[in-house]
Amino acid sequence: MSKRAYNFNAGPAALPLEVLERAQAEFVDFRETGMSIMEMSHRGAVYESVHNEAQERLLSLLGNPSGYKVLFIQGGATTQFAMIPLNFLSEGKVGSYVMTGSWADKAFKEAKIAGGAHVAATSEDKKFLAIPDLGSIKPADNAAYLHITSNETIEGTQYSEFPDTGSLPLIADMSSDILSRAFDVNKFGLIYAGAQKNLGPSGVTVVIAKEELIAESPSNIPTILRYSTHYKNNSLYNTPPSYSIYMVNQVLKWIEEQGGLAGVEAKNRDKAGLLYNTIDGSGGFYRGVAEQGSRSIMNVTFRMESEELEKKFIKASEQEGFVGLKGHRSVGGLRASIYNAVPYESIKALTDFMSHFQKTNG
Ligand SMILES: *Cc1c(COP(=O)(O)O)cnc(C)c1O
Repeated sequence: MSKRAYNFNAGPAALPLEVLERAQAEFVDFRETGMSIMEMSHRGAVYESVHNEAQERLLSLLGNPSGYKVLFIQGGATTQFAMIPLNFLSEGKVGSYVMTGSWADKAFKEAKIAGGAHVAATSEDKKFLAIPDLGSIKPADNAAYLHITSNETIEGTQYSEFPDTGSLPLIADMSSDILSRAFDVNKFGLIYAGAQKNLGPSGVTVVIAKEELIAESPSNIPTILRYSTHYKNNSLYNTPPSYSIYMVNQVLKWIEEQGGLAGVEAKNRDKAGLLYNTIDGSGGFYRGVAEQGSRSIMNVTFRMESEELEKKFIKASEQEGFVGLKGHRSVGGLRASIYNAVPYESIKALTDFMSHFQKTNG
């Protein structure tokens, strides 16, 4: 086999090699059924056992919080941006949003279309390079929920703590940091994440929600867009993205083997620490983009003195087998996405490369 790439893609992103190899081993003949899991009915016992296993594993990794249900929905996190206001904004209600950057803005815009979006706090004054102080977050009096983006994938910022909203449902887009660290699910009414960053391949979006929020939905929105449809049918109302869900189950098993969320978090902090230390110790040759207290341990954004030098860095890195280090087109600069599945060795190789590049170009 050719060498594995040093994969820093933002999403779809690296998957654990063990997961890919296990999937490969049972690709053609799944559990001696004589067919691939892709070829079997989603109404059969074999597929359903995988489907249910993935839901159970996810809840178990989160400490089996009571009263929560896992849904598998298609259409990406982007569809959740629309489903949330459509399901939760009854007459006279608004969704309150914490504006932290590119993804929060997309979520906010969908609530606006649905008829009620409110800004509960913003870090626009800091060019979205920080998470607002939790104390500055003020949901509207008529808020149906407070929406946050736990990790801004593009800017490279992340909440270190979550706001306490009392009885107001807290909704979080965790697409780029779900299961990267231990956290208390009970604070949240609904969490969603497109799988392709930290959970598996693209094609499925995971929703973890309090049952009381999703058991009943408005009847004036399309059936497929109602949370209650997915809830009442165990995410089998229509054909689910069965292979993606199978892969998510494999990734969840791998997370268990890493020592669960605590084990994964320790590794992620080591990885991010190594990279930020290299940036901070470069005497300004590399400069971190996000403010210190808001730095993401998943998406590390940094800049260099000039765009010309950044271009040179990217080109040289590609020649050495590093993939995906170019910053998002909307903000420029450099970004290393170091999700759960990116091994420490990849970050070590990157920091060695960065030091070498500085020596020859500094
Ligand atoms: C990638 C990403 C999205 C978009 O997800 P899709 O599955 O492409 O719709 C939304 N929010 C965040 C935080 C992301 O990182």
